[in-house]
Amino acid sequence: MSLVIHKYGGSSVGDAGMIQNVARRIAEVRKQGTGVVAVVSAMGDSTDDLLELAHSVSDQPHPRELDLLLSTGELVSCTLLTMALADLGQEAVSLTGSQAGIHTDTSHGRARIYSVDTARIQKELQEGRIVVVAGFQGITESEDITTLGRGGSDTTAVALAAALEADRCEVYTDVDGIYTADPRIVPEARKLSEISYDEMLELANYGAKMHPRSIELGAVYNVPIYVASSFNDTPGTLIHGESDRGDMEHRIKATGIAITRNVAKITVRSVPDRPGVAAALFEPLAQGGISVDTIVQNTSEDRTTDISFTVSGDDLKAALAKVEELTSVIGFGTLISEPGLAAVSVVGSGMQHTPGYASRMFRVLADGSVNIDMITTSEIRISCIISEDQAEDAVRLLHRGFQLDESDAG
Ligand code: ASP
Ligand code: MG
Repeated sequence: MSLVIHKYGGSSVGDAGMIQNVARRIAEVRKQGTGVVAVVSAMGDSTDDLLELAHSVSDQPHPRELDLLLSTGELVSCTLLTMALADLGQEAVSLTGSQAGIHTDTSHGRARIYSVDTARIQKELQEGRIVVVAGFQGITESEDITTLGRGGSDTTAVALAAALEADRCEVYTDVDGIYTADPRIVPEARKLSEISYDEMLELANYGAKMHPRSIELGAVYNVPIYVASSFNDTPGTLIHGESDRGDMEHRIKATGIAITRNVAKITVRSVPDRPGVAAALFEPLAQGGISVDTIVQNTSEDRTTDISFTVSGDDLKAALAKVEELTSVIGFGTLISEPGLAAVSVVGSGMQHTPGYASRMFRVLADGSVNIDMITTSEIRISCIISEDQAEDAVRLLHRGFQLDESDAG
């Protein structure tokens, strides 16, 4: 029997009627003879509500207790969905993450799945049941409940698809696929019919919503992930391995434009140019859980150099405090910080083989009088750090400049 994993996000199971709608969609697939394992997120904003409740009781909720509390959100939606399926005459059973055999490490709040024991799910499937699994959670070796990090139900779904060798993982949400840019910023953004894991990772890391770890997992285990709306039957986007779109020969084509807001830059001036200085600078940031993105070091003059890097605006204060602590140790001059920046990125597998993406990006920004502060590239992405005030305009200009509004690709 073929097997699909369905995943429904919180906004697709926001109330009783929506849960019944999801039950109907699953029942439809099951009636055609396909086995279904459904993974659900907590209803609507209920995870936020639980978090708020925890913080209203305690300044620093104990991580173990917080995870057990947060895991209950998914228990509500998965049991209700199972009841709704029963009302449609479908045999179904709900399972917590731990009952579903999802084993994780012990990092509460951001646990990683290390194995899935599929025995229980297999048994239920063999007996003809639809299995509804609470997303976002697992259990440690010492039997404590963990959560996988915000948005982690996507990762539950892809992990189950990999472990059960399902035909594919279908992620149903409140948008009907992956777009060339955020349609709220670029009205003429187009839905992509397909995208590679690598491209999706760059877009996910730079704005478009999906738990990045689910894409990594999909890439490693080669699980096709189909993203579509839970509210209609409009065709969605298939995230899968490299595909040969064959439209790269005649002109430069990108896949999408991404935006990251709330970026801040820190510049450390007159850093002594000797081995170990960059390590001394960045190690404390890493230890403090502050993730650093773009890093630029200038060529050295008079045996000193300047190092600039970006962090999330939310981490700026903490990052500055860490860097200031170092002043005395490594002896550098001045510290400058600048909030209010954004990263705009052009993403596309085509740029691995085609010259000219970078120059076109810089030309488009220049023609729009957008000043570029910093530049980084990966094999399939070019990002520019610019002023946040100009970010939305820049996304629109790049979308047009790379002809993403023209509907011949995808
Ligand atoms: N309910 C969790 C959250 O809101 C997990 C998820 O939605 O995937 O982050
Ligand atoms: Mg959610």
